[in-house]
Amino acid sequence: MTNSNLMVVLSSPSGAGKTTLTKKIQQKFQNFKISVSHTTRKARPNEVDGIDYFFVEKDEFQKKIENKDFYEYAKIFNNYYGTSKESVNSILKNNNSILFDIDWQGNKQLSDYKELKLIKIFLVPPNKNELKKRLIQRNQDNKDVIEERLKAFDKDTVHWLDYDYIVINDNLDNCFTQIEKIIFSNNN
Ligand code: ADP
Ligand code: 5GP
Repeated sequence: MTNSNLMVVLSSPSGAGKTTLTKKIQQKFQNFKISVSHTTRKARPNEVDGIDYFFVEKDEFQKKIENKDFYEYAKIFNNYYGTSKESVNSILKNNNSILFDIDWQGNKQLSDYKELKLIKIFLVPPNKNELKKRLIQRNQDNKDVIEERLKAFDKDTVHWLDYDYIVINDNLDNCFTQIEKIIFSNNN
């Protein structure tokens, strides 16, 4: 359990292990809830609507932008992703801590809300080869999508300066221990 309402942002190049670690954090800390984003991306075979994302069509997403329903949103790999005010507020209302699995653009936009005390963590893989292996092994994206995500690696990593902590996800357990330490050290 965490005592206070913590707000953790976890960003990384695609395939570095964000989703895996996010799920481990949620298992360990019962009052940590993951902010479920809206996206126009198609669901992967193992993804469930309302749990992994709210999967919506482009025009619905556009309407939500116009209605100012999002705290932040971004276009990533030709799809839109956004954090709705409604899903964040319902998590915070119940006195939970919140974890945002969002990219550097979302982190920048959330950081503009100066009243939020964000703990910003940037996760990196040990190297680019390992990242490629993980993207292939995940077996959820086709070859072109994997290439596109690998290409984004260099552009994504320049944004590590916007974060409070950089954590290398080499051994998964070691990485999780480091993230736990960060959470505990901010839990006062
Ligand atoms: P992201 O959410 O950042 O795109 P995922 O959590 O989906 O990344 O991880 C990508 C793949 O790498 C998955 O198949 C996952 O099981 C695997 N993976 C995650 N962390 C590690 C690790 N430390 N060592 C080896 N494989 C890992
Ligand atoms: P994926 O398609 O692999 O699920 O996610 C692609 C990227 O989109 C990841 O870097 C993930 O963190 C980011 N992402 C997911 N949801 C959001 C969101 O609501 N806002 C922003 N800015 N990025 C998001």
